[in-house]
Amino acid sequence: MPKTKLLQQLARKHGTPLFIVDHDALRRNFAEFRRWLPRVQAYYAVKANPDPAIVRTFYEAGTSFDVASIGEFRLVYEHIKRLSPKARQDFIWDKIIYANPIKDTATLEELDRYKPLVTYDNLAEIGKIRRHAPHAGLALRIRVPNTGSMVELSSKFGAAPGEAVDLIAAAFDAGLSVEGLCFHVGSQCTNFNNYVQSLNMSAQVIEEAAGRGYRLKLLDIGGGFPAPYDGSVRRFRELARILNAELRRLFPKEIEIIAEPGRFLVATAATLVAEVIGKAERDGKRCYYLNDGLYHTFSGVLFDHCQYHIKAFKRGHDQLSAVFGPTCDALDTICQSEPLPDLDLGDLVYSEDIGAYTHASSTWFNGFPPAKVVHIST
Ligand SMILES: *Cc1c(COP(=O)(O)O)cnc(C)c1O
Repeated sequence: MPKTKLLQQLARKHGTPLFIVDHDALRRNFAEFRRWLPRVQAYYAVKANPDPAIVRTFYEAGTSFDVASIGEFRLVYEHIKRLSPKARQDFIWDKIIYANPIKDTATLEELDRYKPLVTYDNLAEIGKIRRHAPHAGLALRIRVPNTGSMVELSSKFGAAPGEAVDLIAAAFDAGLSVEGLCFHVGSQCTNFNNYVQSLNMSAQVIEEAAGRGYRLKLLDIGGGFPAPYDGSVRRFRELARILNAELRRLFPKEIEIIAEPGRFLVATAATLVAEVIGKAERDGKRCYYLNDGLYHTFSGVLFDHCQYHIKAFKRGHDQLSAVFGPTCDALDTICQSEPLPDLDLGDLVYSEDIGAYTHASSTWFNGFPPAKVVHIST
């Protein structure tokens, strides 16, 4: 069945707004990641889309998970328990990394009994982990260039390269064990040089640490792998080729390499179908009002700096139109000039590649609920 027919059929059956997740696309994205980066174990960054059905599909396909809150940890841990009841305690590092460098004490206390792998990037955190999660293993987050990434993270997290080895020493002095390093090049990183620089910085820190007697075993190259939102994004295999060459050159086989892809695994696996619920002409511009908007599935426009295209099922002469969400707030503007044909009330529209950082940050603002989710396999 052509994709547009299927979308319309699902929307008729389930109503709109409808967030449609294609689990074959999830599996294809992970297969692509694994095919081109065979040395790197993927820890799916749950915050990109924490739908339990997505967690389950990835678990069955063989991913591990990056969680960043106690809620995400419980969600993933419960799945692992249910799907692999015989999972051993030491198996947890292979399956979950707690990758938020800042953790409150209640979170650390709950995590401690699992002997988790957690990240950190400062002295205060070492003190907290020593008191509240002494059984944790640590990975030091270092600050790396985020130049040109769609979402910048380096202003919030990461130890400066010059203080890295001192922070490793401080953790060992506190009786903790540092397993390795991690970094994040910024989300939707299309400047592949960020990865190259980060890998070289990591190799230097690992070498310097070894010189002071601290042997690190793990390198976590984070997320940032770009989703192919448009033709300007270079292909994943090109990035993989660069990464593989640098990994081979800089890190001996004994160093385990992991990554935390979020967007790359889920962005292209979901499509939203919404309905035109209002129509007006303002200052000569055609305006459409949809039953989904910036406080809901299009929240990525604001939080993720991502622009989604609205497409019509109907054909006709396109005219640049403004598209708004359903709430009473003018911020609830999806786009100012989208080429759309003349649509009628009740017509459906759709947005592709909308799986990452969208439904995950949807709110109930103004009494409008998040879009309904359906899961399909094509
Ligand atoms: C958000 C986040 C990720 C996922 O990033 P993507 O760009 O979606 O791949 C991975 N690791 C950490 C620590 C994050 O904060």
